[in-house]
Amino acid sequence: MNSSHSTSIVLVEPSHPGNIGAVARAAKTMGIESLVLVNPKRFPDPEATVRAVDAADVLERAVVCTSLKEAVRSCTFVVGTSVRKRGLSCAQIPPRQLGPRVWHELQRGPVAIVFGRESSGLSNDELDLCQFVTAIPSINSLNLAAAVQVICYEIFMAAGRAPAEDSEDALATSMELEHLFEHLQTVLLEIGFLDPKQPKLLMRRLRHVYQRARLTQVEVNILRGILSATQNPSSR
Ligand code: SAH
Repeated sequence: MNSSHSTSIVLVEPSHPGNIGAVARAAKTMGIESLVLVNPKRFPDPEATVRAVDAADVLERAVVCTSLKEAVRSCTFVVGTSVRKRGLSCAQIPPRQLGPRVWHELQRGPVAIVFGRESSGLSNDELDLCQFVTAIPSINSLNLAAAVQVICYEIFMAAGRAPAEDSEDALATSMELEHLFEHLQTVLLEIGFLDPKQPKLLMRRLRHVYQRARLTQVEVNILRGILSATQNPSSR
């Protein structure tokens, strides 16, 4: 990939080592060599290495994390993959539009594409860490590695089709956004706007607003400054 940043494939709690190997192979055939594993059931594992074929090096360099939050902390663009649309969800992007968008985003920061468990996909909390969700049109859900293949193919085919990025401002990373959301939740509780018995839905809706806005680091700092001043008005 001819960009200063790279795209990572993130697998959340994969249960079959063979699938991890097949994912490494699928991604590498399309030029994506960064693999992040969140709590894999069995890894490293000989079955993964066998299924990876020529992509054993991708497995060797794979990073293992204990949460999705940690896995995407430095990314500025995080996309979840899901078989179907869930109730309250973040913005949708079709796989065909995702390709050029990924190349566009790579001009500003690291990108993560997140795939779910073979049995149950991604939880709502995990999807809430994403700016977009993409669904591959299909009759039934795809095998994990097949889904990775389709998405990586779309990215591969879109190389060179991204509009040039003209903004110089650094985008907020996933970790910086998470700190903003924590701060926002604390303040909303303090001022009595957020009902501690029913916090989830409001916070999820607010997350979606800020995720859509593609906040820069400077903008996050301004918002957090407002939150701090709300907590301590006399300090200004
Ligand atoms: N039974 C699960 C399906 C899991 S398939 C469920 O109903 O949610 C494992 C993973 O492959 C999914 O979490 C998703 O990341 C990916 N995947 C499978 N089919 C997909 C599709 N049609 N579109 C997007 N991602 C898909």
